[in-house]
Amino acid sequence: MNCLWCYNEIIPEITWTNLFQLDKPKPVCNSCADKLEQLQGDRCIKCSRQTDAEICSDCQWWKANQETDPLEFNYSVFAYNELMQEIIAKWKYRGDYALCGIFKTYLEDAFQERFSKLKREIVVVPIPLSKERAKERGFNQAKALAEFLPTKCTDILLRKHGEKQSKKTRMERIDTENPFILENPINKPVILVDDIYTTGTTLRHAADLLKNQGCPAIYGLTLIRG
Ligand SMILES: [Zn+2]
Ligand SMILES: [Zn+2]
Repeated sequence: MNCLWCYNEIIPEITWTNLFQLDKPKPVCNSCADKLEQLQGDRCIKCSRQTDAEICSDCQWWKANQETDPLEFNYSVFAYNELMQEIIAKWKYRGDYALCGIFKTYLEDAFQERFSKLKREIVVVPIPLSKERAKERGFNQAKALAEFLPTKCTDILLRKHGEKQSKKTRMERIDTENPFILENPINKPVILVDDIYTTGTTLRHAADLLKNQGCPAIYGLTLIRG
């Protein structure tokens, strides 16, 4: 098996602990895995940002500027470091679909760690792309990630076409009107899945709609805390 990123061959190490049980096949070599920065240690309980504070300044801002936060919390797996930026650019913007395989085991582990207690009834909802963007890109990166999770995945959100989020400033993003339409209300807890949490606006727009139509609890699981 070869590393999905650098294509070097991955030579499995045999140790006493894995001698009698097969390890999950690794998607990337050790050298690439070392360059990916998994979020560890102290992080904001609401948004996963690395910080000493229990609730970071971004989330304090959300708290002060909203009556109730529709999002219970967001959990992210990686920091947006150099290697991650390269992978995302090639995967998402240059359409190398297979690269999402890099993230599978990491997402499964994050789900296990943070959401497994809710597993029986929780439903995964990927953040959608607009029709125009989906056509241009060929696939929805959030859906590719959502499908790795061991629970029901359903597309119940639609996204109106609009300007690219990445071209907007922080305040412009927070102030935008809700770009989503909820096609079917859902009365079970939901995990919204997206590739990156930047300001938290996207997840909260989606969470708002779900909450207003009877969803009991909404969480976020994102690959990256930007
Ligand atoms: Zn590699
Ligand atoms: Zn936070």
